[in-house]
Amino acid sequence: MESFDSESAPLPRNMIENSMFEEEPDVVDLAKEFPSYPIDSDDVVYEPRSSRLLVRGLGENDLDEDEEDYESSARLLGMSFMNRNSSQRSAASSYIRQQPSGWCSMPSAWTMVVGVLILVLVASMIMVIYFLPGCTFTRDGCKKTMDTVYPVSTSGELFPWTELRLPVSVHPVHYNISLHPNLTSMTFQGSVSIIVQVLQVTKKIVLHSSDMKIISATFEGKEVKILEYKPWQQIAIKFPDDLKKGQYVLNINYTANFSSSYDGFYNSSYVDTTGAKRVLAATQFEPLAARKAFPCFDEPGFKSTFLIKITREPKYISLSNMPKAKTSNLSNGLQEDEFEKSVNMSTYLVAFIVAEFSSVSKNVSKTMVSVYAVPDKKDQVHYALETAGKLLDFYNTFFEIDYPLSKLDLVAIPDFLAGAMENWGLITFRETTLLVGNHSSHIDKQLVTCVIAHELAHQWFGNLVTMRWWNDLWLNEGFATYMQYTSIETVFPELDIDTEFLSIRFRALAKDALNSSHPVSTVVSTPEQVEEMFDSVSYEKGASILLMLNGTLTGEEFRKGVIEYLQKYTFRNTESEDLWNSLSQIMNTWTVQKGFPLVSVKRNGTQVTLTQEHFHLNSENTKDSLWHIPLTYVNDSCSALSSCKQVFHLKDKTATLKLPAQVKWLKFNYRSDGFYIVHYDEEGWRVLNEALSVDVNILPREDRAALINNIFALSRLGKVPFRQVLNLMEYIRNETETAPLTEALFQLAQIYRLLDKRSELNLVSRMKSYIFEHFGSLMDSQSWEQENSVSKITLRSALLEIACSLNRHNCTTQAKLIFDQWLASNKTNQIPSDLMTTVFKVAAQTEDGWTTLLDMYKYSNYDTEKRKTLEALASTQDVKKIILILQKSLDGSVIETHEFPFVINTICKNLPGYLYTWYFVKENWDKIIQKFPVGSYAIQSIIMSTTSQFSTKTHLVEAQNFFSSLGDRGSQMRIVQEAIETIKLNMLWLENNLNTLQNWL
Ligand SMILES: [Zn+2]
Repeated sequence: MESFDSESAPLPRNMIENSMFEEEPDVVDLAKEFPSYPIDSDDVVYEPRSSRLLVRGLGENDLDEDEEDYESSARLLGMSFMNRNSSQRSAASSYIRQQPSGWCSMPSAWTMVVGVLILVLVASMIMVIYFLPGCTFTRDGCKKTMDTVYPVSTSGELFPWTELRLPVSVHPVHYNISLHPNLTSMTFQGSVSIIVQVLQVTKKIVLHSSDMKIISATFEGKEVKILEYKPWQQIAIKFPDDLKKGQYVLNINYTANFSSSYDGFYNSSYVDTTGAKRVLAATQFEPLAARKAFPCFDEPGFKSTFLIKITREPKYISLSNMPKAKTSNLSNGLQEDEFEKSVNMSTYLVAFIVAEFSSVSKNVSKTMVSVYAVPDKKDQVHYALETAGKLLDFYNTFFEIDYPLSKLDLVAIPDFLAGAMENWGLITFRETTLLVGNHSSHIDKQLVTCVIAHELAHQWFGNLVTMRWWNDLWLNEGFATYMQYTSIETVFPELDIDTEFLSIRFRALAKDALNSSHPVSTVVSTPEQVEEMFDSVSYEKGASILLMLNGTLTGEEFRKGVIEYLQKYTFRNTESEDLWNSLSQIMNTWTVQKGFPLVSVKRNGTQVTLTQEHFHLNSENTKDSLWHIPLTYVNDSCSALSSCKQVFHLKDKTATLKLPAQVKWLKFNYRSDGFYIVHYDEEGWRVLNEALSVDVNILPREDRAALINNIFALSRLGKVPFRQVLNLMEYIRNETETAPLTEALFQLAQIYRLLDKRSELNLVSRMKSYIFEHFGSLMDSQSWEQENSVSKITLRSALLEIACSLNRHNCTTQAKLIFDQWLASNKTNQIPSDLMTTVFKVAAQTEDGWTTLLDMYKYSNYDTEKRKTLEALASTQDVKKIILILQKSLDGSVIETHEFPFVINTICKNLPGYLYTWYFVKENWDKIIQKFPVGSYAIQSIIMSTTSQFSTKTHLVEAQNFFSSLGDRGSQMRIVQEAIETIKLNMLWLENNLNTLQNWL
């Protein structure tokens, strides 16, 4: 899935101590310890990472190396995983050891009697514990009450399963699914017939189902009763006798309403150009919503085949993962489409759509590629078709495995929350991420190309080979993100994708520097935790560490490793370890530990001492971690070409490096391809600074951007005084390249906003002058004409947007002029698409301008233009208008609800609306979580947008109080920790730097 984030909205992350884990029973390795009592095969659960069979209900002896890893990452997160926390274990064992020594040394009649009584008591308790159904016997005895272990189902009967993860004794093999969505009554009827394979003798079948009414169910043709446990979205059938190993058929008929949020089988509507309301139904199942559309074994590890039939009115078309096999006319005037049987795949990749769409198609090797959109927008699909064709060719060649289906549909859905979703053979997109109109700029095309490249990469990474469980989501997302940049760099070099990837790496570093971050591969269990995995760490850090790995291997070695991995696990599931076995062992330290290293470089003549430590913005709870760092570096004798790069593997805390005597300066982390930050000694920074002020081209532009990024980060960490940051910034007057300039602007704008929100009026105006002194002439020299170079338009839109938002006269005058000319020409006098946001934002500050833009927003047929208009509307300084926009986007009138997080993010950038927005979010929290699931990317974005600029004690307390009042409506989210941590860091930074800013700005 592609989380929608074209606006660099703050990304999420954080981990919670999860009491859920403490409720889980003990587990034991079957291979090591044989249980002394009979085990129901359903008590065998699959434990995710160590890939072994584990049995509920027993203690465990020792941990092997693998589990130590697992445990250490769990401990790092401050949670105990499945009661295997070592402190608990040692406490238990020391208790056992102490008991005998004090007791029996001096036996007396009294103690004998007491002893016997206690023995009898203990024995009878054990008997009770053992024979009571549902009590989990652990080394500490039965700690649970019966109803915790066997929950009560909706009907009042005990539900026969106690875990969030399904039992592994029964696997699905094939599903026949028939659906009849009714777009008038907004309901659907379904029937599913599942062929299941019983792998272990059992008395129950447990699967997922959510928000549906089950009408009837049969098992092998005989009617059966379905038990439901709603909190875990599970249903079960209990059998009086053992089900032997073999295949069986389970049928379920049900009805349901379309989902009212953006997941499951949901209906969506839009107004066409004639003003008529049109409806459609579409699906979004990742991660946990297939269960809302049909009862199923809804975990990625349960792959099976699917045959889907859809009944519809003749005016609609239906689409699904596979090509349509046939259409039959039904007696009631409806039609039924039947799709071919699918390949072996996970439930979250199933998809279907019923809508009135038109399409264009072309053949790409053996695949028919089509792009669908609503008929009004059929002229905007051609770019996507061309792009998808080229990228499909690239991936077929790169992976040396052909895309396995005979068709591939890309569909633009009018109301869609994520950026896009990689459903096998039926990729769904937001209109903004697929459609390209005549006036779209190269930046708009860059976004569309990125999303298509990402989703196509998933057809291999994710669809063909799938992570076994959501803890390894990064295997899907990190790889798809990495491949999206690799493929675009090769196929569309003109899109300047390297600069974009660099800024993604910087963002991932900023997120991962927080204590609330988590390891790339993280234990997850609850639905909220699964939702939270869709974050910067899985996508951006995942992609960054793959880039670093690629840098240490030759290009071909990396590609061969990837191909070997894909071939080995085709149509199957994997875990992190499988990838590294196929590629390299270097990466273990990068996937099981959160955070990243800070490498300090101290030079003494020809000797360089290198030290690594955890880069930790918040020094509470630090744990000393070590990484295997493939450290790259260049020096003044050869620095601008990739052939200059040298590699040193830093595995220990410190190491030394010998240099030739004549070396003047060193720059580590060549092109910032590695996921770490480098700190030089004072002399090291000084010589780099000096060299840059003479000639910026001594280093590649990525290195210059990284120096800026790193020194701001080091100042935040307290390693360098802010004065030193400003020293480095002096070279920027000679800078001309997009990457370092936009990084510098980004960092300064962040500080500007923080000061602005604190109403430090004097400093705000000095910061503004500082920005104008350093960037003013560059701002004024930008052209306002059509421009084709992506690098140039990226730079000018960043410069002009800041210039106009800081009211730079040259900028606002020009923007007003262009807007007026555009209106006067009845919009035929085109505004360059990359400047639209800037021009509209200036226009939105007047009453007339704002009203004109609102009208345009209502009637525009171009989604990209619409979004820019919305951004301008939301940047108004008028609080009444801000309130209107917030309300309209939450209730979905005028502004689609899927834009709500974007609206919030935009408003919060400016002073007038940001406090109001915080109160609005607090007031409307329940409504918000009805639309966007707790933990989801949208919720993460809403929380960070509203709180990440707080920097006072009052706001800290306010945020803490609000989040803790949420209880199970969100207080446990990792993003809440991140928000609180960010506020504290803001407070600390301002406390430490206000004086410096007063003195030096
Ligand atoms: Zn994705």
